[in-house]
Amino acid sequence: MDSEHFGTRAIHGGQHPDPSTGAVMPPIYQTSTYAQAAPGDHKGYEYSRTQNPTRHALERSLASIEGGKHGLAFGSGLAAVDACMKLLSPGDEVISTHDLYGGTYRQFVKVYEKYGLKFHFTPMSDAAAVRALVTPNTKMIWVETPTNPMLNIVDIAAMAKIAKEAGALLVVDNTFATPYLQQPISLGADIVLHSATKYLGGHSDIVLGALIVKEDTLAEQLYFIQNATGAVCGPMDSFLALRGIKTLHVRMDRHMQNAAELANFLKSHPAVGRVVYPGFEDHPGHAIAKAQMRGFGGMISFAVKSDTYADASKVVSTMKVFTLAESLGGVESLSGHPASMTHASIPKDQREASGITDGLIRLSVGIEDVRDLKADLDAALSLLL
Ligand SMILES: *Cc1c(COP(=O)(O)O)cnc(C)c1O
Repeated sequence: MDSEHFGTRAIHGGQHPDPSTGAVMPPIYQTSTYAQAAPGDHKGYEYSRTQNPTRHALERSLASIEGGKHGLAFGSGLAAVDACMKLLSPGDEVISTHDLYGGTYRQFVKVYEKYGLKFHFTPMSDAAAVRALVTPNTKMIWVETPTNPMLNIVDIAAMAKIAKEAGALLVVDNTFATPYLQQPISLGADIVLHSATKYLGGHSDIVLGALIVKEDTLAEQLYFIQNATGAVCGPMDSFLALRGIKTLHVRMDRHMQNAAELANFLKSHPAVGRVVYPGFEDHPGHAIAKAQMRGFGGMISFAVKSDTYADASKVVSTMKVFTLAESLGGVESLSGHPASMTHASIPKDQREASGITDGLIRLSVGIEDVRDLKADLDAALSLLL
């Protein structure tokens, strides 16, 4: 099935009807344990931290849609990040995207620095700057692309080259792009990470994480960590993630279509200043995005013309179809104010240097009728004129 096109793999990849009943969707095996006929005589399932058929169905799907061989599902995206960190030893160094997801940054700095890991954060648009940070202790390069909320683009193949030369693993957090738009393993990544809480689940009803790898030995190490440290997801959430994945390509097409239309609408609106969208030719990462992605995704960031907190706050509080909330990637449109929400813990000068001004608003464009999304934005923005 893995030779099929994406939309077929999203629905059938790694899936088969349930052997005992023919159920087309895998049952939610809500069980912690499995009967053994005699000690050690079992059907491949002993205990659900180690093996669960519903989670396995999801893990096979994940491997298929990312063009990998092995999938691993976790209780959250950050639990998947945590499993990657446990591949490392004290003294090892990680080079990471400077504007990565805040929770990942917090885990690196607040949890793993004290276990002796060393992190270097740098803008990865400059490959020479990344290469200059490589030392004999560099064991991992950590890429997020597009980034949140500035939608910076990192050249995955260029980072894969540096990682290979350094003998380091390349991890790509593919949450914003999804495997429909971007296939990091084919560009040289060793591990692909997802917060399936976002687009893969797609319905804002689960928190779940995933890793996908191609190489058997690396997969064995990660399966060991998954079972030994235990941050697995439950069967119900596994089922919901799998159901979400089956419509990923259809949802993404509409997310992208709506986002492109709204980005152009915002660009021409008199109450709007900067519009950050990788689909615009003047976006600094546009050429790389065009080369390594199928499309430009469903996220937009823009600043109100005054670039003030008061005006941005008025817009996000007024909109009715866009819900003001953390997270992204669901069918419903969400707005966010990075400076006071996701990025509030970053000092103001540092935040503004990377473009996150007080007037910046982030949109996760949903799949509602785009005319209603446009009218909602227009009504709120018009209050500023
Ligand atoms: C949300 C998110 C995470 C963390 O995932 P959780 O499921 O919330 O633990 C990691 N990376 C990115 C890019 C995210 O957006």
